[in-house]
Amino acid sequence: MNSVHSTDSGQFESVIGLEVHSQLLTKTKMFCTCPNIFGIEPNSAVCPVCLGLPGALPVINFEGIKLAVKAALALNIDINKRSVFVRKNYFYPDLPKGYQISQYLEPVSSGGYLDIKVEGVEKRVEINRLHIEEDAGKLIHVENESYVDLNRAGTPLIEIVSEPNINSSGEAVAYLKELRNILVYLGVSDGNMEEGSFRCDANVSVRKKGDPGLGTRTEVKNVNSFKFVEKAINYEIERQIDVILDGGKVIQETRLYDSKEDLTRPMRGKEEAHDYRYFEEPDLPPLILTDKFISEIKGSITELPTAKRERYATEYLLTEYDGGVLTQDKEIALYFEDLIEINEGRVEIKKIANWVINDLLSELKTRDKMKVRKERVIDLVKIENFLGLILEVETGNINKNTGKTVLAEMLLSGKKAGEIIKEKNLAQVSDEKGIGDIINHVLEENPKELTDLISGKDKLFGFFVGAVMKKTKGKANPKKVNEILKRSIAEKIKGCRE
Ligand code: ADP
Ligand code: MG
Ligand code: ZN
Repeated sequence: MNSVHSTDSGQFESVIGLEVHSQLLTKTKMFCTCPNIFGIEPNSAVCPVCLGLPGALPVINFEGIKLAVKAALALNIDINKRSVFVRKNYFYPDLPKGYQISQYLEPVSSGGYLDIKVEGVEKRVEINRLHIEEDAGKLIHVENESYVDLNRAGTPLIEIVSEPNINSSGEAVAYLKELRNILVYLGVSDGNMEEGSFRCDANVSVRKKGDPGLGTRTEVKNVNSFKFVEKAINYEIERQIDVILDGGKVIQETRLYDSKEDLTRPMRGKEEAHDYRYFEEPDLPPLILTDKFISEIKGSITELPTAKRERYATEYLLTEYDGGVLTQDKEIALYFEDLIEINEGRVEIKKIANWVINDLLSELKTRDKMKVRKERVIDLVKIENFLGLILEVETGNINKNTGKTVLAEMLLSGKKAGEIIKEKNLAQVSDEKGIGDIINHVLEENPKELTDLISGKDKLFGFFVGAVMKKTKGKANPKKVNEILKRSIAEKIKGCRE
């Protein structure tokens, strides 16, 4: 939106609160024993409980409770030893029971925070609560027909609600990325946004800078990528500022983000807002957690990204930037750590970090565009094979550029660097005689350039280096080529004078 009031808009600040829903990685659903899997035949993972048939009774899945408590502890949220399940009542075709089992006034955990960093500035985002609930089914619309798939009905979710103390789309995205990363590190969620296992509603309002109160908010529903969250929030901020500067009032409503048009549209207003008629779930007792249970889960939490970043700085002496990139993805971090371990000090850690950051990650990005899953790629380039490649370059058997070619080939075939180098005859030519012979050839093939070089056209030196590299298909050790070529030319000049 192109604001005509851009000079006035500086007097506003934005306030954002995020509600995140994340699927839990349990084997079975939250209140029945149906499998919790994505992408199988519609309505093949259902039973009387998740279909809401009369008389069926829910049973709490303790695996789900464990994962929720684990997430809460990692997010510094206080565990409530007593919490209560409630029915959140509403009608929707993907909700056969007519209610979702959720938590409301007494959630499993409340009051916490997550520290984020945006452009070098630290910020603490307060978290209001984390509670457990079940997901609804899914509607699939095909042309003029709609289908209901209830495989997702009853799958476990946690909802994490932030306080409204996020102040820009950048902070919102940093918070979401960090949150997602932590849940994936914990093994609580697969964090897959495309499949909807990590999704977010963004509440946005604006107010005059310095105003103590909050402005009226709108809620943008279910945005399914970081980029779209950022765009949807930015659009809402500008839209609301424009409304106010035009003398209007922001109305509280739910809006949907349209990524094609890059704008948000009203979905339902406050008048149509649901009154969920929450009441205690009569078929489930309150959830009581013991200190022992909580401390056992606390003990099972492995190293989280923040701790890893600190350790990479102190133990591996890496920069904050390197640590940040390496820990953005749990599997990459573990891959890197395994490399360090089997390296046993042979190659400098910084060099290994560079290989992972500059080469492996960029290759992964390329494959990702080709829709090849990261897990498959990492599987293909075994840790010992990747270190093998680094060692081939370090020992001078191949040069760095050839190393990149070899890596690309490794990602396709899964072969070892040594095999590829042999098969494709890529080993660097470093022996004096070999390079000397090629240089002599090249000099003979270009008599005119040689005469010019001898008579003082120094620029032609580069021409000969290039010709030698070309002849060796880039395999010659460039340092050696320079050395020997200089020597040969000097001899020729001497020969001319004599
Ligand atoms: P609801 O359940 O109706 O969505 P909540 O009170 O649980 O309402 O708030 C949901 C989210 O909205 C929270 O993340 C909260 O921080 C955020 N929020 C509340 N008021 C505002 C506001 N004025 N501006 C921005 N975000 C807000
Ligand atoms: Mg809400
Ligand atoms: Zn079921």
